[in-house]
Amino acid sequence: MKDTIVAISTSLGKGAIAIIKISGEEAIEIVNGVFKGKNLEKVKSHTINYGYIVDGEETIDEVLVSVMRGPKTFTTEDVVEINCHGGIITSKRIFELLLRKGCRLAEAGEFTKRAFLNGRINLLEAEAISDIIEAQNDVSRSIAIKQIDGSSSKLIRELRDELLGLIANIEVNIDYPEYEDIEEITIKMLKESCQKIRASLEQIVSESENSKIYKNGIKTTIIGRPNVGKSSILNRLLNEDKAIVTDIEGTTRDVVEGSITVDGVNLDLIDTAGIRETSDKIEEIGVKKSLEVAKNADLILLVLNGNEKLKEDDYLLMKEFKDKSIITIINKSDLEEKIEISKIETPNIIKINTVDSKEIIELKNKIKEVFNLGRLSQNNYQILSNARQIALAKEALAILLDVEKALETEEYVDMIEIDIKRIWSKLGEILGESYEEELLDRLFSEFCLGK
Ligand code: GDP
Repeated sequence: MKDTIVAISTSLGKGAIAIIKISGEEAIEIVNGVFKGKNLEKVKSHTINYGYIVDGEETIDEVLVSVMRGPKTFTTEDVVEINCHGGIITSKRIFELLLRKGCRLAEAGEFTKRAFLNGRINLLEAEAISDIIEAQNDVSRSIAIKQIDGSSSKLIRELRDELLGLIANIEVNIDYPEYEDIEEITIKMLKESCQKIRASLEQIVSESENSKIYKNGIKTTIIGRPNVGKSSILNRLLNEDKAIVTDIEGTTRDVVEGSITVDGVNLDLIDTAGIRETSDKIEEIGVKKSLEVAKNADLILLVLNGNEKLKEDDYLLMKEFKDKSIITIINKSDLEEKIEISKIETPNIIKINTVDSKEIIELKNKIKEVFNLGRLSQNNYQILSNARQIALAKEALAILLDVEKALETEEYVDMIEIDIKRIWSKLGEILGESYEEELLDRLFSEFCLGK
């Protein structure tokens, strides 16, 4: 018999109500033992019952208790939820009482883990539950809910069905080559099927990769020589004075961070010390750090001073970062233009100034354009949302590419069949059809307690 587990599912703090969740064979019996009201063992399933939680003679709280008998519950086991008054003391007292009466403290994510192990949800759906709780913006939420409602799983299942069809076809051809009424599988047929599956997989992978920015945000680094206006731009973006704006070159030594949202995507902004060759020791550390930070960025905002001719350091920076995702900002457009625009090597050039507060919108628009933001939120994409899932889809894709290569050289179909089976099982791993215990432990331990 599995333990009956308990956890406080709402966050610990002051609130109108708190919910204590219990799941397992003895859930109803244990709660009934501390409940004053109807006999919970006799009430209908999926009912809410008014009463009191009591500890012997002492009344702990006035509560509403939901009784849900398995298998139509989240974990497929008997589940009881106690809605008590919010506040740490009350919920903790009830929780401790239930532990004393035979419940075990649930591990992080254990309710969801049970839902998965009991076949109520697949791994993709389980991970999406964590994603929805962790979502930092509306698009992440929307991706996660699509996984929960099963549309992403459906897509993966359809691909697996196609692969299974192929495998069956190949096997029949290998096992019964003498039967004439069996359609002979030809290299041409295999090629066509593989192409179709590849197109779907490629789309899933690329859309999933694109959607990562909604979950992880865009690490954005502002670089440029001292005094070109990096801090001013950062301040305009953040709309608050996080960095010190000054006329003395090289005073913004530290990497300053802040976050803004552009079309539902978090932009984590990092200002860097003015990048230049220098003999000043402290300054040097700042510069090195800037280059390092810039190398790891998803987006670089290279700031140039439009009021000056290009300098050697500008050329150095353009060269260093020209292959990165970059926006070239010609700042100080309110002053006379002296910069040689034709010599700028980096793409996505915009001219702005920080004197007029409205100009920063140009920059935000450019960011939207470069990352094609808004596209995901407008469309009904079906995507994988985490690194584990994307890595498996990529592995499946790599094997498929090998299969296609092998088909070009007309290799034996039975060799190809082995690879197709591998693709099928990789996709199965996304759904959690085969898994290692360790993976489950790691995955569910990242969940909140009580989920
Ligand atoms: P940083 O060293 O690159 O961070 O540059 P700062 O943001 O500290 O700006 C350096 C100087 O340029 C300050 O005096 C700012 O007021 C000024 N500045 C920044 N942006 C503009 C702009 O668009 N137009 C004008 N005229 N001055 C600017």
